[in-house]
Amino acid sequence: MHEDSQTARAEIVRVGQAAWDSGLNSLKSGNISLLLHNGDILITRTGRSMRGLDPVRDLISIGREETKRGDASCEFYVHRGIYAGAGDPRRGAILHCHGPCTIAASGVWDDHIPPSFNEAEDVLGNTRILESRRRESYGEDPERIADALKAAKIVAVRSHGTFTLAETLEECLYLTHLLETSCRISFMVSSALNVRSKSR
Ligand SMILES: [Zn+2]
Repeated sequence: MHEDSQTARAEIVRVGQAAWDSGLNSLKSGNISLLLHNGDILITRTGRSMRGLDPVRDLISIGREETKRGDASCEFYVHRGIYAGAGDPRRGAILHCHGPCTIAASGVWDDHIPPSFNEAEDVLGNTRILESRRRESYGEDPERIADALKAAKIVAVRSHGTFTLAETLEECLYLTHLLETSCRISFMVSSALNVRSKSR
């Protein structure tokens, strides 16, 4: 777990920028949190771009028993539900992204996204797909996502994006980026096979 420190806030800013630079979010999407020692959650404020987060103005610390999220991300209740459901204080970092290839893949496969190359197979295996509540401004269903993340580190929500729970934000970023790359390769292979079949 973490403390609400300059270091923790700087890590959120760094990973938010890296997620943006990697094409994992739109200008308004995505959110990040860290579980603090006292059970509070340090999370991005709602509607903030992951590009150029301000470590003071764009982050807010919220008590885990707080009933109103206030200015925190609309996915605050999902983040809180994931931490509570996982019940593993070592896994104290969550990253939510809207990777375009992953979102596309979640609309193609039924129950899970298969890995498309060796690294993804070794690290991710199959990634579960959950149905979305399709109410972006209210957030997704915390219980189902928390339940899926007990046994996995990353889950895809259909036509929405990914939630990743790990020990560090760096690991969350790695897994999110790896799944996005795996989905991109799937589509590249599919496209290349299509071109080859037409050239014969
Ligand atoms: Zn989202």
